Amino acid sequence: MSHILIAEDEHRIASFVQKGLRAKGFTTTTVTDGDQAYRHARSDAYDLMILDLGLPIRDGMSVLRALRAERSRLPVVILTARDSVQDTVTGLQSGADDYLRKPFAFDELLARVQLRLRSTGAPPEPTVLHAGPVTLDLRTRRAQVGERWVELTAREFSLAEQFMRHPDQVLTREQLLSRVWGLDFDPGSNVIDVYVRYLRHKLGDDRIETVRGIGYRFSVD
Ligand code: CA
Repeated sequence: MSHILIAEDEHRIASFVQKGLRAKGFTTTTVTDGDQAYRHARSDAYDLMILDLGLPIRDGMSVLRALRAERSRLPVVILTARDSVQDTVTGLQSGADDYLRKPFAFDELLARVQLRLRSTGAPPEPTVLHAGPVTLDLRTRRAQVGERWVELTAREFSLAEQFMRHPDQVLTREQLLSRVWGLDFDPGSNVIDVYVRYLRHKLGDDRIETVRGIGYRFSVD
């Protein structure tokens, strides 16, 4: 059965949606701020997210943009009190699959959720990434260099995945901080440099090039 992520800070609405969906046989998880919404949405545990735009810590639009920037295909139905045409357009342009204004009837929400779940028969995401001699299996979270298996921590894996999804492209420090650490700002630490060093050690010294003042590039040849 489908697992729905509900990102909504108004307890009354979250509980109304949750009860309704559970009564229809869905599994649900509710989160109440944008930061949690983003972290949960990236986890592959969900089939669809119902996303409130007015969330604390990080607003729904920013969560949606970050997910789509990472090519997340998670279907997203926006639920919001903002009812201007501009907000609807912005939401859809930012990659929302559907849009529902509060107040809404539960049946209408249900119909949209069911529609979006059915229309996700899109081309499946690759489950194995290859770049040069490096192979990453996204399901088993295992890495291989040539014939050799390499142990990567969760964070190293996630960093390697970003590089391998964008071979030969420069990824900026900001992009890496946002996609791998979920940070919107540079905390001024050298965390990226440290992890790049770990990855170089494990995947090969000349694989990841430093592009001075900008970021890093995963070189394929
Ligand atoms: Ca809200």
